[in-house]
Amino acid sequence: MIVFDRVSKVYPGGNTALKNVSLEIKKGEFVFVLGHSGAGKSTFLKLILREEKATSGRVIVNGKDLSRMKERQVPYLRRNMGVVFQDFRLIPTMTAYENVAFAMRVTNIPEKKIASRVPYVFNLVGLSEKMNKYPDELSGGEQQRVALARALVHSPQLIIADEPTGNIDPELSLEMMELLSAINDVGVTVVVVTHEHELARHFNKRVITIDHGTVVDDTAAEGDFIENAFDDDDDALSDPDALEEDAEEVEV
Ligand code: ADP
Repeated sequence: MIVFDRVSKVYPGGNTALKNVSLEIKKGEFVFVLGHSGAGKSTFLKLILREEKATSGRVIVNGKDLSRMKERQVPYLRRNMGVVFQDFRLIPTMTAYENVAFAMRVTNIPEKKIASRVPYVFNLVGLSEKMNKYPDELSGGEQQRVALARALVHSPQLIIADEPTGNIDPELSLEMMELLSAINDVGVTVVVVTHEHELARHFNKRVITIDHGTVVDDTAAEGDFIENAFDDDDDALSDPDALEEDAEEVEV
C-alpha cells in the first residue's frame, strides 16, 4: 500500500528531513511511526499525502509513484486516505454533523447519501448522541472522534492519526486506539504517528522508529520488499507475519 524506496527529502535551505528511507507498509497493517520532535515524522506524512515531493527516491502509494502523479490526480489519492490531525481541524461554526457532512459536500456527493452516511460514521465512532453539538461543546476526546468520523466518510483504505495523544488525556487516547484497532480489524490500514514511546509499545503492533531522518528500528523489517512494489496489493495478503491473516476487506 505504501512503499518508500530510498527516499530522501531535503527542504529548500538545505534541511535534510529524511535520508535514504526504505520501508513498506502493507494493506491491512497497523503501524506506529515513532520519533521525537524533528525526527522527520511530519515529512513522512506529507510525502504520503503528496503535500511534499521526495528529493530523491520513490514514494509509491497504491501502486502509484507520487513524484510522477499529476496535480489533478492528487485529490483522488487523498480521498483514499483519512487523516485525523492533532488539532482536529474542525470548523467551530458548524455542528459535529455539519463538519462531517461538509467533507462529503465538497466532493459533490448527493444529499441523500450524505444523510445516510453521516449518522452511520457517527455510530461507528460511538458519538451518535452528540452529532448536533458544536465543537466547543465537546470534550477533546469527542472532538477527536468527530475528526475520525470525518476521516472515515469516504471509506478510505488508509487512516492516518497524527499525534493522536497530543490534545487528549491518556484514558481517551486508549479509547481512540481501540477505535482505530476496530477499524483496522475490518481491513483498513492504520498509521499512527507519535513521539510517545509508551503508546507505541503498549500495543503489540509494528513500530517504525525514525531518528534524524533515518529509520533506526522497524519491528517488522523485511529485506525483499521493493520488488513487489508495483504488484497488486493482494500479494501482501499472503504474508502472515506482517498482516492479520483474517483481515477482510469490509467497507467502513
Ligand atoms: P517531526 O514531525 O518528527 O517533528 P519534521 O518532519 O517536521 O519532524 O522535521 C524534520 C526536519 O526537517 C527538522 O529538522 C525540521 O526543522 C525540518 N523541516 C521540516 N519542515 C521544513 C520546511 N518546510 N522547511 C525547512 N525545513 C523543514
